[in-house]
Amino acid sequence: MRSLTVEPGIPDSLRLEEFRIPSADRGSVLIRAVALGVCGTDREIIAADYGSAPPGHQRLIIGHESLGVVEEAPTGVSVSPGDIVVGIVRQPDPVPCANCAVGEWDMCRNGQYTEHGIKSLDGFGSEFYRLEPSFVVPVTASLGLAGVLTEPATVVAKAWEHCERIGRRARWNPQSVLVTGAGPVGLLAGLLGKERGLEVHFFDRAHEGPKPELARALGATYHDQSLDAVPGDFDIIMECTGSPPVIGGVLERSAPDGIVCLLGVSGPGGVQSVDLGSLNREVVLDNRVIFGSVNANRRHYEAAITALANANRDWLHRLITRRVSLAEWKQAFVSQTDDIKTIVVFDDAALKKLA
Ligand SMILES: [Zn+2]
Repeated sequence: MRSLTVEPGIPDSLRLEEFRIPSADRGSVLIRAVALGVCGTDREIIAADYGSAPPGHQRLIIGHESLGVVEEAPTGVSVSPGDIVVGIVRQPDPVPCANCAVGEWDMCRNGQYTEHGIKSLDGFGSEFYRLEPSFVVPVTASLGLAGVLTEPATVVAKAWEHCERIGRRARWNPQSVLVTGAGPVGLLAGLLGKERGLEVHFFDRAHEGPKPELARALGATYHDQSLDAVPGDFDIIMECTGSPPVIGGVLERSAPDGIVCLLGVSGPGGVQSVDLGSLNREVVLDNRVIFGSVNANRRHYEAAITALANANRDWLHRLITRRVSLAEWKQAFVSQTDDIKTIVVFDDAALKKLA
């Protein structure tokens, strides 16, 4: 089988390698890859900014946004051969901590969790991979290729769940959400906002192309000037850029009792001048909440699949702006203008059957 591997710590070490199909000790469910989504985390791993190989290995099979078909599964488990599935990215830590012990590995407290394609576990950028049944999630078959959006959708499904849990500390009747950054995560965050009946606003620096088009097709309002020019205060803000000036800007834009959810990962640096005295005063006097959210547990995979299944199929397919065959894999990892979600197609025949 062919797999995309990198040597973590060595920039631009990505290559396609040939391996034997993994043996059953790696998991009783064997999955044949259909497609793989590419995201910023993959590019960071390729740039050697992030990622680690499995213990005792030099190279890591990358990829964590999966879509595959079950090839082999033991009888009596929740998936059967032929099912369309995605793999859960994070594995609980071995201790385990209090959260990992109850399936809330997205909230791991000791940092010893592992992640397929990212941290100490081979990923899904491979023609075949194995998982234990509890880490395989069936995808609504009618989603077709849009099932590859499941993993990024899990990130926002968790963010929305946590916003709602925080919101219910008092009477909770939100009207509006501002999403900063109209990439795949931002657009999916906006989709879930629309599905909740909220007024959705996007802020992004792109003036044309698929971002404003997809935002408007969702029935949202798209702002591309300055954050200051976006009118109103928002009950919920989902910050998906990780850009310090935008983060600084959104902290001041939540309504009384408002919630700011930070989803973008930023690097160190990016020093901003913030008047902490005045920010603290506003946060305290208005009962505001600012919190961070990352990753997802099984419940969020199920919520994400439900959210995608309820969405307009055409809109979801428009998020996938570039399909690259495995033979042309290098192109998938070079960003292009107007990319929203790029995917690598591992099995064109299986993909045609899906779509
Ligand atoms: Zn843990």
